[in-house]
Amino acid sequence: MNIELIANLSYVVSAILFIFGLKMLGSPATARRGNLLSSLGMLIAVVAGLTAEGIVSYEYIIGGMLIGGLIGAAAARLVEMTSMPEMVALFNGSGGAASLLVGWATLYGGDISTFTAVTVLLAILIGGMTFTGSLIAYGKLSETINSAAVVFTGQQVVNSLILIGILVSGYMFAVDPHPESQWLYIMLGLAMVFGIMAVIPIGGADMPVVISLLNSYSGLAACAAGFAINNNILIVAGSLVGAAGIILTNIMCKAMNRSLTNVLFSGFGAVKQGKAIEGEVKPISVEDAYYLFEAASNVCFVPGYGMAVAQAQHVVKELGEILENNGAEVSYAIHPVAGRMPGHMNVLLAEADVPYEQLVEMDEINPRIENVDICVVIGANDVVNPSAREDEDSPIYGMPIINVDKARTVFVLKRSMASGFSGVDNPLFFGENTRMLFGDAKESISGVISEFG
Ligand code: NDP
Repeated sequence: MNIELIANLSYVVSAILFIFGLKMLGSPATARRGNLLSSLGMLIAVVAGLTAEGIVSYEYIIGGMLIGGLIGAAAARLVEMTSMPEMVALFNGSGGAASLLVGWATLYGGDISTFTAVTVLLAILIGGMTFTGSLIAYGKLSETINSAAVVFTGQQVVNSLILIGILVSGYMFAVDPHPESQWLYIMLGLAMVFGIMAVIPIGGADMPVVISLLNSYSGLAACAAGFAINNNILIVAGSLVGAAGIILTNIMCKAMNRSLTNVLFSGFGAVKQGKAIEGEVKPISVEDAYYLFEAASNVCFVPGYGMAVAQAQHVVKELGEILENNGAEVSYAIHPVAGRMPGHMNVLLAEADVPYEQLVEMDEINPRIENVDICVVIGANDVVNPSAREDEDSPIYGMPIINVDKARTVFVLKRSMASGFSGVDNPLFFGENTRMLFGDAKESISGVISEFG
């Protein structure tokens, strides 16, 4: 068997592993295995690609695997669970940068056809945008830069000029494609600036849509790079990531009740402030919370990003079991954009072995939330903010929320009166039926557990 045939067969195996891996990622029960299968597929694809093309010798492949494996193992150990969303943003950015480099390197392989020039152009354009856009997303998620929308007068004009510049320089490059073309560098520079400009006007609450979109772009860039170097598995893998990212973007848009254009361009205007909030904050102690828990017959936990920060999932599950043994019906309501990455809360609750049948989606809990005695908001903020429902001037107006304010009593577990990721104040904290249980969520829940004795 010649080496090319072996490579093509390996690519088929990789593609099958990718598809089954993706399918398995759809359920928390099989997600780990799905992840493993997909990475195995990627390893086979990379080794087969490098060997078939005779690009590098075995020593380099083994050396690369060792170095990459060490970096991966160190990252997996050192990066905190709470920093995973930022890491995902960096992964997207690295994917974009890799496709950019692959596309660029193609130019050094001798004369290229117009078709290849166009695919190179797309790989560089989408890859460059994805790279810088993801770096901004990383900054916003890690809160090293302000997560609020950055808008300025003339923003649309500046963006339109950049787009025109990209089109013109791209066309000039495609007419005469060679690595020394100054048009290539102009286009690359503009694409990178455009990536930044596209992400800075997106407000905190809309970031889930942008992250899934960047994920999709990284796939499209890889797909273009695959066409540029005529590599089937890169085209397949790129298309899968591109399509999965678009599906996720669609799910996220639905979760936010926004259209994609609305998310991408709504920041391009005056920043809304939202109504001033009036009312009285009513703190509650762990002891008093315990008495109410003791008497409750229906309790619903609503986790958010703060549960991830506090790593409170295990004690939450423990309290859930105690309440069940005490005769209460217990559920866990999950908002689709709670936390900082899609499925964030599902992952944490699965880690704590919370039974799947106790998880309820937003649309399922809202119609019956009036019957809940106590809604326990654990470090959630934006996803339970009633101004999204009631205040037309609020930047998050229209985003569906879990209507915890309609439950009989609401306990909000957080450390302070600080706003959530969107930077929008929350009238829930001043509600008639709201009690604020201030402090780290894990400590507060542990306190309640010890009251149960
Ligand atoms: P938020 O970011 O709105 O609020 C989290 C709250 O947790 C904060 O108000 C904070 O208050 C509290 N908190 C932090 N640490 C602790 C702790 N140790 N103990 C108790 N509370 C704590 O979270 P939500 O989950 O409600 O909303 C997610 C937001 O992130 C949405 O705006 C969403 O659009 C956005 N987003 C979501 C992504 C996704 O894919 N899911 C991706 C990117 C953005 P305090 O400091 O007072 O304790």
